[in-house]
Amino acid sequence: MGDINYQQVEFAYARPAELDSDAVARHPVVIVGAGPVGLSTALDLARQGISTLVLDDDCRLSTGSRAICFAKRTLDIWDRLGVGQRMVDKGVSWNVGKVFFRDEEIWRFDLLPEAGHRRPAFINLQQYYVEGYLQEAVAAEPLVQTRWRHRVSAVEPVADGVIVTVDTPDGAYRLHADHLIACDGARSPVRKMLGQESHGRSFRDRFLIADIRMTADFPPERWFWFDPPFHPNQSVLLHRQPDNVWRVDFQLGWDADPVEEVKPERVLPRLRALFGDAAEFTLEWVSIYTFSCLRMDHFRQGRVLFAGDAAHGVSPFARAGPTAACRTPRTSPGSSRWCCAGTRPTPCWIPTPPSGSTPPTRTCSIPPGPRTSSPPRAPSARHFATPCCGSPVITALPAAWSTAAGCPYPQRCMDHR
Ligand SMILES: Cc1cc2nc3c(=O)[nH]c(=O)nc-3n(C[C@H](O)[C@H](O)[C@H](O)COP(=O)(O)OP(=O)(O)OC[C@H]3O[C@@H](n4cnc5c(N)ncnc54)[C@H](O)[C@@H]3O)c2cc1C
Repeated sequence: MGDINYQQVEFAYARPAELDSDAVARHPVVIVGAGPVGLSTALDLARQGISTLVLDDDCRLSTGSRAICFAKRTLDIWDRLGVGQRMVDKGVSWNVGKVFFRDEEIWRFDLLPEAGHRRPAFINLQQYYVEGYLQEAVAAEPLVQTRWRHRVSAVEPVADGVIVTVDTPDGAYRLHADHLIACDGARSPVRKMLGQESHGRSFRDRFLIADIRMTADFPPERWFWFDPPFHPNQSVLLHRQPDNVWRVDFQLGWDADPVEEVKPERVLPRLRALFGDAAEFTLEWVSIYTFSCLRMDHFRQGRVLFAGDAAHGVSPFARAGPTAACRTPRTSPGSSRWCCAGTRPTPCWIPTPPSGSTPPTRTCSIPPGPRTSSPPRAPSARHFATPCCGSPVITALPAAWSTAAGCPYPQRCMDHR
């Protein structure tokens, strides 16, 4: 199992029986998207005895470097779905983070200072492992049927469900779904098909991801620098992943050229400045990202439910994609039972309120976090404010700095949404 290269795995396309029949097959739940959220949702519904059909337009799992940090609450949910132990066994567990200003450590936090927790505050694990483990659990689940290279190209709400048009390499067919769950990612074609939008903010900044393979004995902690000597005026984030892979995020600023900045002659000097000339490493993955914090007003449109990035996207600094998304909803469409599982102050998967009313929003109930040192004062007190979770959050940084980066609880904090 451990030797599978999940980035290379391909799932076979199978011609669906519907192409050879005029009948429109009926399914209790159709899930669009076999990403971490679609797969977790399928497993969750199967545990409740509800069968699902999962459609994905691709035939591969996540490749490259995407999500790496997964929070304790997500692990609780994956435990319930029977995959948590595998994630923890492979992942790098961590509880401690350090924040540096220039070359001075100004703050250290421990997210789990008490003994007795079953799971760590976070694990770091490449997204392709997460999806691989979920997919294997789904494949063993008789109540879930997954179809690869089946692209949802149209959805039509009807009184008792949704008519779904699916394109395949052999042609198109139609399905009747009693409920449709859109887990089709940040650009969510289903959202567009229904004329819905996400609202929020896109940030004018660019970040370089450099994943390297390196043997090093740094502790498994989250290290974050503001204005370090090796990358002046910008921020840098360091995380350890399994397989001796290290993720470094370099803030570059909006004016950085995304084509030039991924070239080894640009990346390697940045890494050398951080790790020193003697460090031995190889590049695993290099890419540039920007980010947005966006959310739909309502995660339910009739019998179409939105989950994961389709419903809400948060900054990668929050490390809160699947981390938040897997706990977005827990629902039993068959019985119209709705509940929220999770601590993130996102408006959870709630029935659409009557028009004109304000959707309920839960606020953060996390008590002030433990600190082993005082909150930082530099660069100046006006840069810090206390949000609902009691953790200092940078609110007025110079434009080149990220607003999301300084909070030890960003995945739980209203100020980061
Ligand atoms: C650089 C970076 C770092 C990140 N770091 C973290 C982190 O540390 N922790 C964290 O929790 N999150 C992180 N994230 C976010 C995380 O990657 C996403 O939140 C997560 O992938 C969302 O999962 P999803 O299942 O909602 O959507 P996706 O993973 O986007 O999956 C959507 C699926 O839908 C399929 N699809 C799309 N359209 C159709 C269609 N028409 N028909 C059929 N199928 C379709 C796609 O092929 C895809 O398989 C990071 C993201 C980035 C880019």
